[in-house]
Amino acid sequence: MRLSQSFWQTFKEVPKEAEIPSHQLMLKAGLIQKSGAGLYQYLPFAVKVLHKIESIIREELDKIGSQEVIMSVVTPGELWRETGRWDEMGSLMLQFNDRGGKELCISPTNEEAITDIFRTFVKSYKQLPVSLYQINTKFRDEIRPRFGLMRAREFSMKDAYTFHLDKACLDRGYQDMYNAYAQIFDRIGFDYMIVEADAGAMADSSCQTHEFQVLAEVGEDFIVYCKETGYASNIEKAKTLRKNLEFAASTKIEEVATPNKSTIADVCELLKVPQYQSLKSLVYTAINGEEEKHYLVMLLGDDELNELKLKNYLNCDHLIMAKEAQLSQLGLQKGFIGPYQLESKNLEVLFDSSIDENAGYIVGANKKDTHLKGFTLSRDFNGAKKVDLRLAQSGDYEASGKYQVEIKKGIEVGHVFQLGDKYTQSMKAMIVDQNGKQSAPLMGCYGIGVSRVMAAAIEQCHDENGIIWPAAIAPYHVYFAVIAKSEETKKLAEDIYRDLLEKNLEVVWDDRGLGPGFMFKDADLLGLPLRLTLGERDYQKEGTLEIKVRKAGAIHKVKKEEVADKIQELLKELM
Ligand code: ATP
Ligand code: MG
Repeated sequence: MRLSQSFWQTFKEVPKEAEIPSHQLMLKAGLIQKSGAGLYQYLPFAVKVLHKIESIIREELDKIGSQEVIMSVVTPGELWRETGRWDEMGSLMLQFNDRGGKELCISPTNEEAITDIFRTFVKSYKQLPVSLYQINTKFRDEIRPRFGLMRAREFSMKDAYTFHLDKACLDRGYQDMYNAYAQIFDRIGFDYMIVEADAGAMADSSCQTHEFQVLAEVGEDFIVYCKETGYASNIEKAKTLRKNLEFAASTKIEEVATPNKSTIADVCELLKVPQYQSLKSLVYTAINGEEEKHYLVMLLGDDELNELKLKNYLNCDHLIMAKEAQLSQLGLQKGFIGPYQLESKNLEVLFDSSIDENAGYIVGANKKDTHLKGFTLSRDFNGAKKVDLRLAQSGDYEASGKYQVEIKKGIEVGHVFQLGDKYTQSMKAMIVDQNGKQSAPLMGCYGIGVSRVMAAAIEQCHDENGIIWPAAIAPYHVYFAVIAKSEETKKLAEDIYRDLLEKNLEVVWDDRGLGPGFMFKDADLLGLPLRLTLGERDYQKEGTLEIKVRKAGAIHKVKKEEVADKIQELLKELM
């Protein structure tokens, strides 16, 4: 590509709303244009990157025998009604009617559509397993689209689906996909972690699910990780232990005055006890269709609630924290709520499993300006329900209690998921099994955020001057900067350019006639793995060109005849 003939442009300034490096750099380097909130147009160099990511994905999925299909981006509402997801998805899904009044949506995912393909073509166990994938546009009306391609509304996803006769076969298919994902992300050059993920309330506990998380400061996911054991889990799911807490002895239960001390911090400071010797009270309302139920959740004073654990436990459609008005309706005193002798019949109490049954705790007394000392679960509460509800924290211990965990931030680039027979059952995608019986196959689904991968790669690899593309997905290999006045040098540049193209090297030739300062700045911003410079003066003096490695900054002086070989050698090292 000759830049003089290219559409490419770079920018000095970017809008303030671009908060994170990948978003800023993609705009500066002329890779994308915003067309609306969470909507982006990919410009030529970004398309090159997407195609490279897609090729790696295709090669690895082909290796495990998955076949590519392309499903319609707009899908009929009736398919989603079969599984109940038309209503369940809520406003995440962009729904509309066509001119005949038929319900349609822009696919946020494609389990229904693939199951419809499956049930049309597959009738017998002999046709199993089936593994299909597509690379296609998805639309999710995200509440907070942000960070450019990282959380867009329209984005490119690779979604794969597998169908199996039994669990053993599903496990094999899952493992193949898991391994293929590891290959894909290794080839891209990511520093990533494979973590246990939350499977949701409905999931059968034997159903596995893992996320592939690229480690980066701007990541929106928190990963609980133990160096010693290798335990890695999304915080949503992580179960860890607190240790070395000196629980207070159980004493007689008695009231203590805590005037105007309505927070755990204030109460514990007043009473001079560590916060974990008190219990925190949180009130939540679980909504299921028309039905509403209220819960009082008790946690150690310095723990936080993991709302997803609570939602999964209650298996509800929505979970909302009670507002002040709700509390008074339930007869509760904000700031002084506690589990002891609760009068409200409308409130079920749940205790986090880290609470010691026999220790004495400070709790709210359900009376203004008053707390109780010595509340002891085994003595003062009948039939307490203990549930793991706390959010893991750094410094907690993993399951064996031997090693501590730390918390890292990640960008979810891929997700593998065993679905069981949820979709095949509800959509009646039955097959005849070995015994001649109708049976619902088991499914797995597997996503990679293709456009998010591009953003994550920049997030993980850039410096103050610009992008540093991993060589495997760089839009081109070499930025050829030419500083030439004489026709002779220009001719030489042309010869070198042609020679490199003939050797299948992907070269951007900066023939715009800019000064070296401008050229080098653009080269750094665009971040191709290598920059080849032909400077007329140097060439005339020393007979050499210069190859600079974008990542390490190393400079190699080479003779004209050595250029292609040296580039190939350096690229090999970088791939
Ligand atoms: P997240 O938790 O980030 O919202 P998700 O778990 O809802 O993602 P999946 O349904 O697992 O996403 O989709 C598969 C993949 O699609 C994700 O692993 C991610 O890489 C990508 N993806 C999901 N939502 C977006 C988005 N809004 N913008 C870009 N990529 C996305
Ligand atoms: Mg996911």
